[in-house]
Amino acid sequence: MIITLKKGAPQQEIDKIIHEFESKGLAVSMIQGTDYNVFGVVGDTTIIDDRIVSANKYVENVTRIAAPYKKANRLFHPEDTVVNCGGVKIGGQEKIVVMGGPCSVETKENLMTIAQGVKEAGGRMLRGGAYKPRTSPYAFQGLGKEGIDYLCAARKEFGLPIVSELMSIDKVDEFEEHVDLVQIGARNMQNFDLLKAVGKMTKPVLLKRGLSNTIEEWLMSAEYIMAGGNENVILCERGIRTFEKYTRNTLDLSVVPIIKNRSHLPIVIDPSHATGDWRLVESMALAAIAAGADGLIVEVHNDPEAAWSDGAQSLTIEHFKTLVEKGKKIAQVVGREI
Ligand code: PEP
Ligand code: MN
Repeated sequence: MIITLKKGAPQQEIDKIIHEFESKGLAVSMIQGTDYNVFGVVGDTTIIDDRIVSANKYVENVTRIAAPYKKANRLFHPEDTVVNCGGVKIGGQEKIVVMGGPCSVETKENLMTIAQGVKEAGGRMLRGGAYKPRTSPYAFQGLGKEGIDYLCAARKEFGLPIVSELMSIDKVDEFEEHVDLVQIGARNMQNFDLLKAVGKMTKPVLLKRGLSNTIEEWLMSAEYIMAGGNENVILCERGIRTFEKYTRNTLDLSVVPIIKNRSHLPIVIDPSHATGDWRLVESMALAAIAAGADGLIVEVHNDPEAAWSDGAQSLTIEHFKTLVEKGKKIAQVVGREI
């Protein structure tokens, strides 16, 4: 961290700042310039809040050199993390994992039909929302526990581990018991109490990027979960808000190489919420594989036109099969397998 102090800063003030850092185990060195004094602070600067340092009236500028996240940082953990989700491994050089399933769990019958289709197509995990974060309070809110029960029944029948969204702390025990991969949705990426709660869980977490959050904010949310003791975090890019209206969101695929460089955590792409349009899902899924993603999470429905939520972005089972077939070929080109 580099801190620039105005030249006129009294010695007493300088000593106070140096003492502040040294008392936290950091080393400080100073360069005296003609107009400014520049301090280099080295050590574990993740514990320093630069906004507080900036509050000092003699401080002109604070520049962070090291990232503020530690546990999620590849610098301190060079090997790729591989996360085990109910027996399916995601990350590193493991096979690319394709997860498929409906936006919302609807009836038991149609979930079974979709799960069977996902399995036969080569999907290795089943997704489905039982607790839904809907923009409108009048829209379908999910089946709740009944939906989790149907997911468990589908897992038993087809051997697919299940991923579902946890929206509130009071359902932590339910998810700990039944769900293989706990999804934190985009809208809850900065629900810090929820992040702390999943940080205490033993189940892995799929952390979606917030609608308007930077990569650093996203990694800091992963840090919250990891700091609580749960280091099994998978990041999921699902598109961000931009001015563009042709798509529901804008898929930021550049996060794949950026995350690979900055973090050891696996990265999964959700081309369904990223585009909002089934016509665009296949090409974005293939592009994600080409970019180096460790997995895909795709909305699939046996009858998208009749879906209770997100039908417009859901693939038919047939289309999902085609996607996986094409994906296998792209994976081969980049030295991976599905
Ligand atoms: C979902 O996966 O169904 C969902 C609501 O996703 P997101 O949080 O990315 O909008
Ligand atoms: Mn959805």
